[in-house]
Amino acid sequence: MTSRDAGADPPDVISEALADLRDRLAADEEGEVARYIPPLALADPADFGLALVSREGHRYRAGQSDTRFTIQSVSKPFVFALALTDLGLEETTRWVGAEPSGEAFNAISLEPGTGRPANPMINAGAIATSSLIGAADNEERFARILDVLGRFAGRTLDVDERVHEAEAATGDRNRALAHLLRASGRLRLDPVEAADVYFRQCAVLVDTVDLAVMAATLADGGRNPVTDEQVVPEPVAVQVLAVMATCGMYDASGDWMLRVGLPAKSGVSGGLLAVSPGRFGIACYSPPLDPVGNPVRAVAALRELSARFGLHLLHNPAPSAPTITTARRDPRTGALLVTAQGSLDFTAAERLVHTLRRFASTFTSATATATASGAGPTAASGAESIVLDLERVAALDSTALALVSATLARIEAAGHVVRVVGDAGRALGRQGSGDGP
Ligand code: GLN
Repeated sequence: MTSRDAGADPPDVISEALADLRDRLAADEEGEVARYIPPLALADPADFGLALVSREGHRYRAGQSDTRFTIQSVSKPFVFALALTDLGLEETTRWVGAEPSGEAFNAISLEPGTGRPANPMINAGAIATSSLIGAADNEERFARILDVLGRFAGRTLDVDERVHEAEAATGDRNRALAHLLRASGRLRLDPVEAADVYFRQCAVLVDTVDLAVMAATLADGGRNPVTDEQVVPEPVAVQVLAVMATCGMYDASGDWMLRVGLPAKSGVSGGLLAVSPGRFGIACYSPPLDPVGNPVRAVAALRELSARFGLHLLHNPAPSAPTITTARRDPRTGALLVTAQGSLDFTAAERLVHTLRRFASTFTSATATATASGAGPTAASGAESIVLDLERVAALDSTALALVSATLARIEAAGHVVRVVGDAGRALGRQGSGDGP
């Protein structure tokens, strides 16, 4: 364990909440362990691990969170991320679509007309995606896939050769999918090689904490919060999350979006990860699957967590602290004083520009000469002076910068005087002095 690990003595409240959830849901014995890849049938149906990794890389865990299992379909979003990084969105989506298939994970789901697989989260699309990874040969291709999975997980990963061989021996349906893709011109690789690189990626060994770190990396825009490495560019992380949100849970994706509302991916060995964007990654391991192929206890755990903590993507975030702390006329100077605080995003900037505009609408018009440097509130008839105190504004994002600077420019164009106080003023291209209003 490193100093980043939580859950040591005494237990922290987050690990305790995970343990409590785990203990309550462990009694649910619904579902069947996958058997079509023979070694998967050996999994212990009672195993149930949970892990959460925050954006800061703090790790929390409960139950069998260090039991190793093969990643299976949970590899799909991460190989898709590598393809997007290599080829970009336009080229990648020439080979694989982004529409929920509404069909089982191993369905022959190819777009009528083009033969393009519906999305990269089902087998046909994942085989197409893996074959897009540029390499001199299949060895190098798989080495690149294993490397990127490890960078998402924050450690070097290995393959369970037994599971790889068992799937290669029984994976005729996936090989058939690869041949169909090739026949419709949607596979850049020999079908047998394409299926094999896909089987090997499915046999990579992980534990629940690894999956939670992988999810946290997507939550933090492609930056692994444990190693601090930017594994994929931020726009790629967003593209991957979008496809996970619509297609990650096979033909239960719509119901999952309704009841849980987080981008997620599940796999047949019982792993599931979900991403709360900008907040954390969470993962579960529990081998018994529902008829769609999603782990029963993991689905129940995420449903409960989402409802309890308001995690649904479309849930209105908790209201932030007030942006405007002062909006009044200074009796001494006659200037209008507006004080803002916090980090300004669209919501906060809208509050600020609304306040500024409300004031400005009460001003009588002034002559343009009043904007000359050093002009005071009485420099021209009707000219008013606004002091905007940003001393307690930590940062403005690009939207806030654009909204606030355009509003200030308009007030000045109407002949009034604006003075910005505080370092944040520099970001607005203004002096931004440290002296008080
Ligand atoms: N290797 C598995 C298969 O192709 C992965 C499927 C899954 O996890 N849903 O059948």
